[in-house]
Amino acid sequence: MTESAKAGVRCPDCQSEFEFSVAESGGIQACPNCSSLVTLAAEVIVGADGLDRFNDPFREEFIDKKLTAGLLGMFLLGAYGSHKFYLGLNRGALLMASVSVVGIIGGMFFIWPLLLVFVMATISFVEGFIYLAKSDESFYEDYRVREQQWF
Ligand SMILES: [Zn+2]
Repeated sequence: MTESAKAGVRCPDCQSEFEFSVAESGGIQACPNCSSLVTLAAEVIVGADGLDRFNDPFREEFIDKKLTAGLLGMFLLGAYGSHKFYLGLNRGALLMASVSVVGIIGGMFFIWPLLLVFVMATISFVEGFIYLAKSDESFYEDYRVREQQWF
């Protein structure tokens, strides 16, 4: 690891996580949340795919996608999962796209399948709005680290 590499530690008192430079390992730092003194023993906190969020080279790039993802979800093909495909949330995206395609095809023969598309569009609109409302930090945590597929 390089001097500038980051690691994470979890405060034993309030369970909040914070990051520190690996160069400071072994030192003691006050928890930014509750001010308890915490020993900086490197504990790498990883996400769903083993992502080490403190050393993620795509962190800024992902956060920069927030605006586009929000607008896609709200206004452009969100019912087909466009906003989720864009963020790499492929499981949720494929499910939305499948439901909408089934709805469109069914809609050629009956009215009710179009309701599926309407439901997907409503979900995507709300999701896009949620993306835009989140702080950069929680956007990154929820959709890149934890790969949260829905809302
Ligand atoms: Zn704490």
